[in-house]
Amino acid sequence: MKITLSQFAGFCDGVRRAFERVSDIKFEKIKKPIYVLGSLVHNQDVVARIEEKGIRKIDMQTFLDAKDGEIGTLIITAHGVGPKIYAIAKEKNIDIIDTTCPRVIKVQRLAQVYLKRGYFIVLIGDKDHKEVKSIFEWGGGKAAIISNHVDLHNFDIKDDVKIAILSQTTQSKDFVKEVGEYLQNKYTNVENLDTICLATEERQDEIKKIARDNNAVIVIGSPDSANSNRLFEISSNVNPKTIFIERAGDLDSSWFSGLETVAVTAGASTPDWIIADVISRIKNL
Ligand code: SF4
Repeated sequence: MKITLSQFAGFCDGVRRAFERVSDIKFEKIKKPIYVLGSLVHNQDVVARIEEKGIRKIDMQTFLDAKDGEIGTLIITAHGVGPKIYAIAKEKNIDIIDTTCPRVIKVQRLAQVYLKRGYFIVLIGDKDHKEVKSIFEWGGGKAAIISNHVDLHNFDIKDDVKIAILSQTTQSKDFVKEVGEYLQNKYTNVENLDTICLATEERQDEIKKIARDNNAVIVIGSPDSANSNRLFEISSNVNPKTIFIERAGDLDSSWFSGLETVAVTAGASTPDWIIADVISRIKNL
């Protein structure tokens, strides 16, 4: 059986940068205790490695309730946070290590700029995703978030309002295009700012091709990783024999019987060591 590994499988630049930054922390030089706000990467193995270094995860409420001195340094993940978190950290004298991906910062800035220019912001993304919440907050908390077709068809605003469309960096290209076209047909003044990350676009374009060219596709990712789920969704639409796994131990030899070709891809939060493990396990099945 021929195994093809996607050329874009695994950490994107933003996640790699965040992981390396945290891995390189010089503990003796920074204020302790050190916490990361949420999961640095949506991957349990990566989180476990970080915890081994003595960096613990903290949720938003615990951060908000923390008293002075209970948090020394706060790590902000690649998904970014809203302006309120920086202000609270300053008030509580908490140092920050900011690993927000520069491409997410760009969307946050666009939200601020277009709000100031008097636009109403439409943000395409998953309502509960950290990145979407951060962009929403930088946009003054006034954007309409479009997560699905129901949200899109319920969206209603006066025709004289200027609309700027932004999207979560890992959104589906097809959905963003559809929302843009729908709103441009319905309203007069719509600016569609393409804020999908290039890393996402390349992965989504490639997955369609490898799903077509192979008998089966294995997508490696964490169930709570938005971009891994997106890859699974896109691949399944092209090739129903698409299987989502988290790690090598999830593989089942029966899936591969009679197959001549299988493609393997992985979401942007999947580390190289898990991908290598999956490939080696498939070869040995
Ligand atoms: S997918 Fe793109 S925007 Fe998101 S963290 Fe990775 S490089 Fe940054």
